[in-house]
Amino acid sequence: MRKPLMAGNWKMYKTPAETASFFEKFLPLVANSPHCDVLICPPFVDIAAAVAAAKGSSVAVGGQNLYWSTKEGAFTGEVSGPMLKAAGCASVIIGHSERRQYFGETDETVLKRTLAALESGLQPIVCVGERLEEREAGRTNAVLETQFRDGISKLTPEQFAKVVIAYEPVWAIGTGKTATPEMAADAHRALRALVQGAYGKDAAAAVRILYGGSVKPDNVKGLMAQPEIDGALVGGASLEAVSFASIVNF
Ligand code: PEP
Repeated sequence: MRKPLMAGNWKMYKTPAETASFFEKFLPLVANSPHCDVLICPPFVDIAAAVAAAKGSSVAVGGQNLYWSTKEGAFTGEVSGPMLKAAGCASVIIGHSERRQYFGETDETVLKRTLAALESGLQPIVCVGERLEEREAGRTNAVLETQFRDGISKLTPEQFAKVVIAYEPVWAIGTGKTATPEMAADAHRALRALVQGAYGKDAAAAVRILYGGSVKPDNVKGLMAQPEIDGALVGGASLEAVSFASIVNF
């Protein structure tokens, strides 16, 4: 059985003070939620506040990106895996569609960042997903195949075993348009088949594949009813404690 993971991606929202008050409300609401792993990925400047606030709880903290050099150096504006690890992060989101759309992220840089995360002892949450025009052209599975082939299929089996995949159809992110549970499950099945082809049956059965794209308290149950869906990567609805807690406690 794969333990569900509910991960909140705070994007560029919240200050350290707002982070502390989120945790104050959120932690009691998820204190009895052993059925799933819970992760909050705040902006870099909020990580210290989140780690301090989450201390003693089962809620983990992660980054939203990292640079691919694991050595310190002259890379203005970047944050490394060892820095995230030292700050108390357990995981890091890699290849979010907003990074791909606005900041030039490619499958090649996704792979480099994934390797850096693994080298730093961080769990990479690697995002893949098609754009609207690709879905409308019937190219969803082809897009997923390319993103997988040019990205995480190049890891060793030992490295791959530490990866979480997030299927995030770009047209569903921040738009209020959710993939139906069946659409999401179809894409997850396609991804699991790719994993099986590259790494074998056991790896395919073990890998957690999250769905992301306008997950809300009122649609999470339907999504999680699909055995293929192992949790959610949640943007907007993770910013408010009661809302994200009801997603965790689906
Ligand atoms: C995300 O940021 O990964 C995301 C899925 O956002 P939202 O839930 O707001 O669509």
